Amino acid sequence: MSFLDLPEGLSERIIQCNSTYTVRFGVRLRGRMYSFVGWRSVHSEHCEPVKGGIRYASNADAEEVEALAALMTLKCSLVDVPFGGSKGALKIDPREWSPQELERITRRFTQELNKRGLIGPGLNVPAPDIGTGEREMAWMMDEYRRANPTDVINARACVTGKPLSKGGIAGRTEATGRGVQFAIQSFLRDHRTKGLKGRRDLNSASVIVQGFGNVGYHAAKFLSEEDAARVTIVAERDGYVHNPDGLAIERLKEHQKRTGSILGFDGARSFGGDMSGIEQSCDALIPAAMENAIHAENAERIKAHLIVEAANGPVTFEADQILRSRGITILPDLYVNAGGVVVSYFEWVKNLTHIPFGLMERRRRERRNHTIAAALERMTGKEFPADIRDEFLEGGSEIDLVRSGLEDVMRGTWARIADLMEERPELRDYRTAAYVASIRQIANAYEAIGI
Ligand code: GLU
Repeated sequence: MSFLDLPEGLSERIIQCNSTYTVRFGVRLRGRMYSFVGWRSVHSEHCEPVKGGIRYASNADAEEVEALAALMTLKCSLVDVPFGGSKGALKIDPREWSPQELERITRRFTQELNKRGLIGPGLNVPAPDIGTGEREMAWMMDEYRRANPTDVINARACVTGKPLSKGGIAGRTEATGRGVQFAIQSFLRDHRTKGLKGRRDLNSASVIVQGFGNVGYHAAKFLSEEDAARVTIVAERDGYVHNPDGLAIERLKEHQKRTGSILGFDGARSFGGDMSGIEQSCDALIPAAMENAIHAENAERIKAHLIVEAANGPVTFEADQILRSRGITILPDLYVNAGGVVVSYFEWVKNLTHIPFGLMERRRRERRNHTIAAALERMTGKEFPADIRDEFLEGGSEIDLVRSGLEDVMRGTWARIADLMEERPELRDYRTAAYVASIRQIANAYEAIGI
């Protein structure tokens, strides 16, 4: 069934990946030559630069990279950030290499990307993904800078997700998890939705999180600390931990950092080697690990009422159909995990404008707030309440502005998806509505440029 009336041939144009470059290179390590293979796929250049993460994973392949690049196009269009979609991967298990070795490999990979115009502030802007983080982005930026000494002014914008000291932005690391929180809140607070069995918040609701990397950890942290959710299970590749009263997320993270696993955590029961963590009873399930975590075989056993796709593509097509027929609500990946690329966009803008967010108006706003507080005190003859004074007077730090910008985008995008569902009930589920909203924009862009 078609939900969009696109001109002849345009849908094929939008589906196809424009190009995928395979790179093979050797690095001399441990006294011998090691060969590596990687990919950078550009899905759509209807908007440039193109944007998307680079993952380091031993099971990566070209087909997966292409699918993820397409998802980036849809994601960027849905949340209205001005990028086409791209994605990259290096077939490597980062745990097998020392930081020094990883640095050499990353720098070589960057040289290859640079040679082909697959990295650059106006061309293609990588970011962290599975197996990569600030450190890899800093190496890439530095290598790009060395290779392009004439592009010093904008060079920092060649990647996002950099450390703060290297041109990063406050709140980028937490951004995807923070976006997951805003997505759930937007859904629950919208009275047009059925909420969580009719409930409009997560207070004491039980939540299962699959994947305790950057995204899963931050989502679990914010939902338990700020929304009073009970994160009862965290599942990882080697099993899961369970505490019916809610896990202490910060302590669990410390345990994982110290021991390399979530198992054996003293604040929970451990189920080593057991992959059924996501199938246990809960109100909401947040898959925040890899693709295809929920598939035709386990979809029938999922007991959650709400699935929040924090990972890219965690529910297969068959599983999606099974879950929908069982009345389980799914908030789709292209909306839920867009927080990362939204804050990447803020970082890219910050790098290109060369001015920190809020610099021009922070002091002015602070002075104005002081004047308002003083006026209120004079008019009422009472002191301004001490507990909210500091927050009221403060002019807005970078992290506040980033969070506020991200919240605005996530709420606005939710409103667009829900409005479309209301206008067109035949769309039936949020994934289809999000696709329609996103592809409509891409089609308009193609039509405007005449491709
Ligand atoms: N890798 C993240 C994603 O899949 C972030 C991409 C970006 O910031 O460009 O959305």
